[in-house]
Amino acid sequence: MNLSAPGRDIKPNNRQMKTCYQCLKSKEDSEFYLDNRSDDLLTASCKECQKARAKDRYKNYPLTEEQKRKKYQNLVEWRKENPERYKELVDKNNKKRAKSPRE
Ligand SMILES: [Zn+2]
Repeated sequence: MNLSAPGRDIKPNNRQMKTCYQCLKSKEDSEFYLDNRSDDLLTASCKECQKARAKDRYKNYPLTEEQKRKKYQNLVEWRKENPERYKELVDKNNKKRAKSPRE
């Protein structure tokens, strides 16, 4: 009987830890997001790294001109629809500024 013969039905239960390719830490599967394009159905980097990267991306790639324009447009629209609320906000802001000591 050849124990090393291929095809033996061994559950790969030693594969409980996956190493994150970014922080190189061994983590449980639950520390990775699911990714159906990946061989083991998990993302290559752990949740923490993914989150950090998403934050980074936002910092490094701020809104495009188009997005800024849209955002501004939304603000203008909102201001038109909520003139009272807008006035309130401006007043509040002015008061805050007036209160804070200069110098
Ligand atoms: Zn990681």
